[in-house]
Amino acid sequence: MNTEEIIQKINKLLKKATTNVSYDRICDYCYESYIANRSDQEFCCDNCADNNYNQNIRPLREAEKLLLQLKEDEKRKIEYKNSLPSPENILRNNIRKFEKLTIDPIEGTVYFMKDIVDMGVNFEHFSYKERIEGKVEICFALIFGNYKVTQLDRIKIKIEKLKN
Ligand SMILES: [Zn+2]
Repeated sequence: MNTEEIIQKINKLLKKATTNVSYDRICDYCYESYIANRSDQEFCCDNCADNNYNQNIRPLREAEKLLLQLKEDEKRKIEYKNSLPSPENILRNNIRKFEKLTIDPIEGTVYFMKDIVDMGVNFEHFSYKERIEGKVEICFALIFGNYKVTQLDRIKIKIEKLKN
């Protein structure tokens, strides 16, 4: 056989193979036998194709969509969390604000709480709390690095610079 003959033989075999494809099928949905019009037909009728889609495919697609949405939400939450300043950075920022204040080295200096908050100090982020002795009610001073902040009354605080 020469090349020409081989090609002809292949073509003949391929033609035979495709014309021999059986179009007698069993419907993937209702399991009735039917004659297919196309080689890629899976169902006996549009109704079975629709029913299959509604019962088997659609719930899967919807579940996939919800899962994707859940993943997106989770991703957005993590991105938001990562975009927030860390507690360490907030504390560092607080200390930087105290460094800008004029503070009497012996007595400390009294400030209005509001003014310090307006400067951008966040009182929820401190190094630690220190119990103030000699008070009947439990009182704490807040320590920010080398700065000690004591509440004097409802509006005033005293800021002292601690000696290292
Ligand atoms: Zn069917």
